[in-house]
Amino acid sequence: MSNDRRAAEMQLHLHSQTNPRLHEADGPLMIAEGRGAIVIDDAGRRYIEGMSGLWCASLGFSNERLADAAYRQMRTLGAYHTANHRSNEPVAELVRLIEEISPIPSCRIYLTSTGSEATDSMVKLAWYYNCARGKPEKRKIISRQGAYHGSTVMAAALCGLPNMHRAFNLPTQDILYARRPHYFREAEPHESVASFGARLASELEGMILAEGADTIAAMIAEPVMGAGGVFIPPENYFPLIQEVLARHDILLLADEIICGFGRTGNWFGSETFNIKPDMVSIAKGLSAGHMPIAGVIISDRIYQAVADQAASIGVFGHGFTYSGHPVTSAVAVEAIRIYQEIDIVGLARSAGSHLLSSLRQKFSDHEFVGDIRGVGLLGGIEIVADRKDNTPFAPEERIGAKVEMACRRRGALVRNMGDTIAFCPPFQISETETEQLVEVVHQALEDVLIK
Ligand code: PMP
Repeated sequence: MSNDRRAAEMQLHLHSQTNPRLHEADGPLMIAEGRGAIVIDDAGRRYIEGMSGLWCASLGFSNERLADAAYRQMRTLGAYHTANHRSNEPVAELVRLIEEISPIPSCRIYLTSTGSEATDSMVKLAWYYNCARGKPEKRKIISRQGAYHGSTVMAAALCGLPNMHRAFNLPTQDILYARRPHYFREAEPHESVASFGARLASELEGMILAEGADTIAAMIAEPVMGAGGVFIPPENYFPLIQEVLARHDILLLADEIICGFGRTGNWFGSETFNIKPDMVSIAKGLSAGHMPIAGVIISDRIYQAVADQAASIGVFGHGFTYSGHPVTSAVAVEAIRIYQEIDIVGLARSAGSHLLSSLRQKFSDHEFVGDIRGVGLLGGIEIVADRKDNTPFAPEERIGAKVEMACRRRGALVRNMGDTIAFCPPFQISETETEQLVEVVHQALEDVLIK
C-alpha cells in the first residue's frame, strides 16, 4: 500500500479495541487477501489465521460460492427491508434453514446485522415479554464476570470485562454479574469440577434470592465464554443453572455468537452443554463472517406473548434498516448450505481433536503453561508464571500481549485475552497448518519467556 494511504489510515481512522496512540505511531497490519486459513498482508507476508479473524471466518477468507451468492443477489435485489410486512426470497429461505438446525424446537427468528444488536434485541424481547404478561418490574439481567456480549450500550453494560466499562459510564444499575465458570482460576483448592459447578449454581440462587426473583428477567450466558478467555463450563453447570432459573421464572438467553454453527462440535453450544434456552443469539458463523448478519432465535412461548402484545398496540416497535437485508441473507443461506454439505459438525470434531492433541503434546509439560482447554474447534492455553501453584504473571508484564506479537512476527495471528492464548481457526485448517500454528505459539513463548 502507498505511504500516503497508510498515513491517511493512521490519521483518520479510530479503531475498535486498539490503543489509539500506539496506532498513530505504528500504524495497522494491513491484510490484503486470504485463502483458506491463511491471510497475506500488503507486503506479501503470510500468516496462519488462528482466530478466523474475530472468531467468525469459518470458511476462510475468500469463498467463491459466498461471493457468487452476494453477486447474484445484488444483481436481482441488492437492497430491501423487512419492516411493514415486506420480505424477500433469501430471508424466507434463511429462516427455514435456521429453524431446521435451531436448538429451540419451535421457534421464530428475528434478524439483525450485528451480534450486539442481537444481544440488545434479546434483552428488549425479555422486557417486552414481561410487560406483556404484566410483570414490568421483572427487568434485571444476570450476566457473568468475564462475559462479552457486544459494544452497543446494553450489550456493553452486560460485559463483565473491565475494559468494556472503564471511562464509559455505562448504565449498569439493572445488571448483576455472577461468577464465571472458569475452574482453573475460580475453583477452591481441592474442589472437584462437579462440586465447582454445583457451587456456582447455588451462588446464583443466593444472588437471585438476595435481589428478589420478581426483579430479574433473564440470565445471559455464552455456552463457552470466548472473549473472556475460552472458559469451558463444568458438565453439570448449565443443567443446574437452568433448574435454578426455572424455579424463579427467569429466562435463559444463550449467546451463541461464537459457539453457533458448529464451533463446539455440534450445531450449537446449547447441544454440547445441555442448555434449553429461551432465546439464542447468532452472528459470526451465520455468514461465515462474510457479511454483517446476525439474529435471535426465539421460543414460541415468548413469541406468542410478544405477538399478542404487539398486535394490541398495533406494531412490534423494534427494527433495524438492515434486518433481513437480501444480500446478507443470501450469503448466510449459502454459508449454511455449505456447512451442511461439508458436515461442519464432523469437521469441528476432527479438526478440534487434532488441535487439542497438538496443544497437549506441545504444552502439557511446558513450564509456563498452567491450563490447556478445548471443545470442538475452540481452544486456549493459559500462561502462568509458576506451574507449581499456577501463579499468574503480573498484569503489567503483559505477557499474553507479548506472545501475541511474537506469534505475529513468526507468521501466525492469534489472540490473547490477558495471558490466555485463544485458538479458533477456520474449519478447513489442515493438520499441517494446525501443527504449524501450535509450533509458532510454542516458539513465541520461548521468545518472550525463555531468554
Ligand atoms: N457476543 C459474543 C459472544 C461475541 O463474541 C461478540 C463479538 N465478538 C458479540 C456478542 C458482539 O457481536 P458484534 O461484534 O457483531 O456486535
